[in-house]
Amino acid sequence: MNKNILPAWNLKDLYQNIDDPQINVDLEKYRKFCKNFARKYKGHLNELSGNEFAAALRQYEKQISRAGRVGGFAYLNMVTQMKNQQAVAFYQAISEKLTEYGKPMVFLSLEINALPQSKISEWMKDSQAAFYRPWLERVRRFKKYELSEAVEEVLLEKSMTSSNAWVRLYEETSSRLVYTVNEKKYNDAEISKLLLDKDAETRHAAGREINRVAKENAELFTFIYNMIIKDKAIEDEKRGFKSPISSRNMSENVSDEMVNALAQSVRDNYAAIAHRFYKLKAKWLKVKKISYWDRNAPLPFSQDCEYSWSHAVDIVLKAYKQFSPQLYTIAQDFFSNNWIDVPPRDGKRSGAFCAPVCADSHPYLMLNFAGKRNDVLTLAHELGHGCHHQTRIKNGELNEYSRMTTEEVASVFGEMITFQSMVKDLPDNEEKLALIASKVSDMINTAIRQIAFHFFETRAHAERRNGELSTERLNQIWQEEMRASLGQYVDVGEDSEYIWSQVGHFFFLPFYVYAYSFADCLVNSLYQVAQDGNIPDFANKYMTMLSQTAITDYKKLLAPFGLNPEKSDFWAKGLGLISSYIDELERLDKKLKL
Ligand SMILES: [Zn+2]
Repeated sequence: MNKNILPAWNLKDLYQNIDDPQINVDLEKYRKFCKNFARKYKGHLNELSGNEFAAALRQYEKQISRAGRVGGFAYLNMVTQMKNQQAVAFYQAISEKLTEYGKPMVFLSLEINALPQSKISEWMKDSQAAFYRPWLERVRRFKKYELSEAVEEVLLEKSMTSSNAWVRLYEETSSRLVYTVNEKKYNDAEISKLLLDKDAETRHAAGREINRVAKENAELFTFIYNMIIKDKAIEDEKRGFKSPISSRNMSENVSDEMVNALAQSVRDNYAAIAHRFYKLKAKWLKVKKISYWDRNAPLPFSQDCEYSWSHAVDIVLKAYKQFSPQLYTIAQDFFSNNWIDVPPRDGKRSGAFCAPVCADSHPYLMLNFAGKRNDVLTLAHELGHGCHHQTRIKNGELNEYSRMTTEEVASVFGEMITFQSMVKDLPDNEEKLALIASKVSDMINTAIRQIAFHFFETRAHAERRNGELSTERLNQIWQEEMRASLGQYVDVGEDSEYIWSQVGHFFFLPFYVYAYSFADCLVNSLYQVAQDGNIPDFANKYMTMLSQTAITDYKKLLAPFGLNPEKSDFWAKGLGLISSYIDELERLDKKLKL
């Protein structure tokens, strides 16, 4: 690999390009399959033996994969070139076709849910049908929230012009935003990079500009957000969910109470973690209060580390290898086969993600690698997602699903082992302090900040019941939650009041944000167990756990590590790890006389 050229991903494992004739062949196969499947089985599921039922599901799985491949390709082809109208239109057309062609399959889960439990039990006696037990249990869980087939069909069809349309408008508007700092123009990814600049005035100018652009678009974003919340409320009400977060928790298979306990536990730790950290940070930055935009600012005494791509890859792979040779082997494939799109580009979506395309293909990772320490940890994070996916291919397409709370486990753990490997060999110096401070800053962004986001959206959804929320009101709720979580050493002023509109998850995945904190606290607990060294064969047990995250409940998943998420001290234990890093920062601060 040339050290100066950042690699792009190779989507040819899926299709050659958007004109590949195989795309239409696959679409057509999928269309015919769904039609024929419904014709053959609709109204007849109760006549099937367990063995016949399993055979039907195996066929269906093959076709979901086919559809996933086409849809995944269209999406990935678009995200690196959001300004390319052809790519955007292609994605839209494919999405519409897949929705349309998949419509006949709506009967399947409805009809399964209409069956008596005795029929399901009879099927489960067949070993091949029993393979699909995790999926069946998931389908049956939503039984009482399902509507009639006719209504379900309408909802599915209308989703293209309701919630999905709003999300699309939000995403397309966001990707077109242009920021100007010192007469230079920046896109989304580039301006975020300026927030990490060494120069305070550059950071503040970038922050003010992000807020200004958000303000300029506030009317539109407020309207979109109101529509998305209302759209969800209408559907929730028809289905009978008791609160706006319930459907999300239901699909996560966690109780509302469990999430409330997490949120409350984090809130109780705002002061012990976030406020204490920003007090230190204000001292290091030599100010009374730090600017909202300086939360992630580099410390004045930290070296401006620039990592080349190949160096970043070495760091991450070394850490993965030290933890588990098995994990390392899986991780290597992503680099040797070009499954990662690395460089930032004009029109490319900002941020980073791992996209599992379909069960019979590997996932792809999208990054915007800018050579910062955070970018190294982001690589470790997304690679964790990628490896996680690879450990569970054998579970099949139906049994597998993205449960957000466990979805983030492998990624956060991957970040953690990479961080530890980076910090391990350093003596007590400013570099070590800067590295730990940067990690604590990230952990606060994940475990604490996402819960502040969670409180924002919880309040927004609750207040929307009484009518549309104005921009001013959204700004106000936003600032209240930011002030509570960040504390007295961070200045939450006018230059950040519109930033709620920049949190994409509020728009495209309501109530997603707590999952980050959930996973972080869970991983922190797990990590402490690994550090304690009392669990023999930890790495192998961890790999086994990864392969079962979608098919086993939390209690069983964590039992081999002596952890129980139903116990009240579980969340506090995870938060305790962050607190212990702040203790270490206070110790270093004293010792180094900063
Ligand atoms: Zn993630």
